[in-house]
Amino acid sequence: MGSAPPMSGKFFIKTFGCQMNVADSERMTALLADKGMEQAQAAEDASVIIINGCTVREKAVHKALSQLGSYNFMRKRKGGKGPVIGVGGCVGQLDKENLFKRAPYLDFVFGTDTIDNLPEIVHRVENGERHVIYADFDKSMDYSTETKIHGLKAQAFVNIMKGCDKYCTYCIVPFTRGKEKSRTIDEVVSDVAQLVAKGVREVTLLGQNVNSFGKGNSNTANREPAELNNVIGKVGPRAGEENFPQLLRALDTDPRCAELKRIRFTSSHPLDFSDELIACYAKPENGGVARLSPHLHLPVQSGSDAVLQKMGRHHNIESYIAQMDRLRELCPDVGISTDIIVGFPTETEEDFQQTLKLLDRLQYDNVYAFAYSSRPGTRASKMQDDVSASVKNERLNHLLQYQNVIAEKLYVGRVGKVMEILVEGESKNQHMIDKNGIDPQTARVWTGKTGCNRVVNLISRSPRNLLGKFLDVKITAATCLSLHAEESLGQEILE
Ligand code: SF4
Repeated sequence: MGSAPPMSGKFFIKTFGCQMNVADSERMTALLADKGMEQAQAAEDASVIIINGCTVREKAVHKALSQLGSYNFMRKRKGGKGPVIGVGGCVGQLDKENLFKRAPYLDFVFGTDTIDNLPEIVHRVENGERHVIYADFDKSMDYSTETKIHGLKAQAFVNIMKGCDKYCTYCIVPFTRGKEKSRTIDEVVSDVAQLVAKGVREVTLLGQNVNSFGKGNSNTANREPAELNNVIGKVGPRAGEENFPQLLRALDTDPRCAELKRIRFTSSHPLDFSDELIACYAKPENGGVARLSPHLHLPVQSGSDAVLQKMGRHHNIESYIAQMDRLRELCPDVGISTDIIVGFPTETEEDFQQTLKLLDRLQYDNVYAFAYSSRPGTRASKMQDDVSASVKNERLNHLLQYQNVIAEKLYVGRVGKVMEILVEGESKNQHMIDKNGIDPQTARVWTGKTGCNRVVNLISRSPRNLLGKFLDVKITAATCLSLHAEESLGQEILE
């Protein structure tokens, strides 16, 4: 890790992309704050601006680059005396020095493996160096890190592995995040324990394929389960190595993590969604992991086996459905979400109809759907992108509307139930107060999530700060996107 002297001034980080990038931005924030810098609320107030960009879709790269242009415009307006500007994350890792050719005004570039060098990079740039670059891959197979959070938080993201060995034909991630490597179970448990000691009550374990966690780490503590299976055969790390169900069970039973209430994880691959991981979702009295939230995000990408094969996904729809059926048998209230790509090369109307059929069959709570865009350097980029843009858009809109109907039905089924939420902050939907004729002077709308990951907007009449609190709330209404709960109708709110 690089060294830098104490620093001053304000920084602003603009984040694009997935939860891994959100976690990386939190780490950047903590690193700069540890050196004495202050987080700015707006880019205009900052002396250092960082764009943490995503490369998964073409649109995301364009967004990051157009944001870069607007920050440069802002700097010009300030007569060139504006902030220094850098790009990090997957965009920095992939495009490296090419970014200086595209945007010569850019001051620094860094990658996903060099985040810890950020204070040193900023220090060098503030001392007059230009085009500073730190975007090398860490080629060692060991992965060790300590989670850094900034301020008091009830939730934290914890990176447990990084990289991906799956090489789905459309995906750029193996090229930006490298090969899979995992932290050890002992290290992750100690890390979570120190977060719990700081007040964290919910952790989300992060990695491109968290359920293949453990590959290459020897199971010296002889933890169970010793090996993993699923409907298609043996999967994941080999016998004699650590694995993801072992990690969940270690976190659940370590006395230092006793105050932890929820464990979540993302993202995962159906190939590594083992029988032993499914068993963790059972009730504790039936051998399940008590703190594991009843939520699963398991990307399926398409409902057509023919398309899955071209995507290089190595799973099929029959095995995926069998996994979901087994999961729901053990945990009937589980909330399931997925990712879907529409318009992959060769996708026919019949393939697309099979995806809709899958939505009907599996009744997802949430679907994150995208139109396919070719990423240079991937195997799919060599296939003919033969689904027209208009057909991709039609299919995407159709699928989203189709899913909205499913989600609304599921959400309406929750009205009248009492559910536990963790309050994550103030909601953007403060207008709900006016709609409900409540005094806006004292009332606030808060947003939180249930264990099964449904968003709840809670109207509270009292001025007290609910951030970071676990509450039992009664659900009063539902839309296809969220549940509503109110304090005002005499429902009991338990802390
Ligand atoms: S599993 Fe496939 S889609 Fe997911 S990160 Fe790896 S290569 Fe990309």
